[in-house]
Amino acid sequence: MSIPFLDYRAVNEPYFDDIQKAVTRVLQSGWYVLGEEVAAFERDYAAYLGTQHCIGVSSGLDALILILEAWKELGTLKDGDEVIVPANTYIASILAVTKAGLKPVLVEPDEQTYNLDPERALAAITPRTRVIMAVHLYGQCADMDAIHSIAKEHGLLVMEDAAQSQGATYRNGKAGNLSDAAAHSFYPGKNLGAIGEGGAVTTNDPELAQMIGIMRNYGSEKKYHNQVKGMNNRLDELQAAILRVKLPHLDRDNAARKTVAETYLKAISHPDIRLPYVAGYGQPCWHLFVVRVPNRAKWMEYLSDKGIQTAIHYPIPPHQQPAYAEWNHLSFPITEAIHRDILSLPISPAHTPQEAACIAEVLNGF
Ligand SMILES: *Cc1c(COP(=O)(O)O)cnc(C)c1O
Repeated sequence: MSIPFLDYRAVNEPYFDDIQKAVTRVLQSGWYVLGEEVAAFERDYAAYLGTQHCIGVSSGLDALILILEAWKELGTLKDGDEVIVPANTYIASILAVTKAGLKPVLVEPDEQTYNLDPERALAAITPRTRVIMAVHLYGQCADMDAIHSIAKEHGLLVMEDAAQSQGATYRNGKAGNLSDAAAHSFYPGKNLGAIGEGGAVTTNDPELAQMIGIMRNYGSEKKYHNQVKGMNNRLDELQAAILRVKLPHLDRDNAARKTVAETYLKAISHPDIRLPYVAGYGQPCWHLFVVRVPNRAKWMEYLSDKGIQTAIHYPIPPHQQPAYAEWNHLSFPITEAIHRDILSLPISPAHTPQEAACIAEVLNGF
């Protein structure tokens, strides 16, 4: 048996012909940056999510940074304002806050969902708090109703890091349309992956959308007229054209992930394995299937010996990274325990329920 954790080639193979046609179309058009393909993808993705605006950008990290910097440019935020973020998120969520000159305030997650814990977020609010960043980690939405009720009471903005949640739902809404602004990533490993880098911001705020559209393009709306100090954070035509091929199949790809996840949930019975918890408020998009085990290194080695590749998302919490040396003395026991125990099992549209059943059998035999 040989089961890779994630095979980008296999994930994209069903779309090879259409992707090749899209690439040829862009090549032949002679227009490679900010043209019809990006505009069309922005319309399609906004329609998929039900948002009024979508702005294609260069990556998920850039999408996060642009939201925060646009709020600064609009006068909504200022240097040093505090942004509440889950302590166990992928470090990009936190990097965006520091890059934008704001202060991340780390909050321990809910141990069941691994997402922001609304009670602890409430306790972390200070007079300088301006934003709560919900990260829909592993593809399951954070508890947005609870987060919004706290935000409303304290006059805070809410944003989503929706990099891992394309197609996930919360009650009647889709991830990426559950807050003031959301950041998306089209990194090849995400549920809607490009063949390279890409990202987007979605929002229902026309002013914010316009500012981000300007900021991603040197701060200019009209060529060589610069309104603000922008960046080059554009999504390119080639990636947009490829994303247009894949977007109509996102729900089907997510359904394939779901059959793998449901097989794991049903078939894994080893008493030492803690399975993911699915909250009743929505449908995860199963970006990752994360279990918890004691003695993780032993499990990884055992699985690897049987030809099953696994991964860890993520091995070191942000507050223990050298990049954030100023936080290295802090202690977040829940976050640290999660990082110690988590193990990601193979899941993707290219994996089959049969493979998941095999992996479950191997796990149960540990
Ligand atoms: C992937 C990811 C990002 C960053 O997206 P890039 O496109 O790789 O810059 C941000 N946040 C989370 C939670 C992610 O998983």
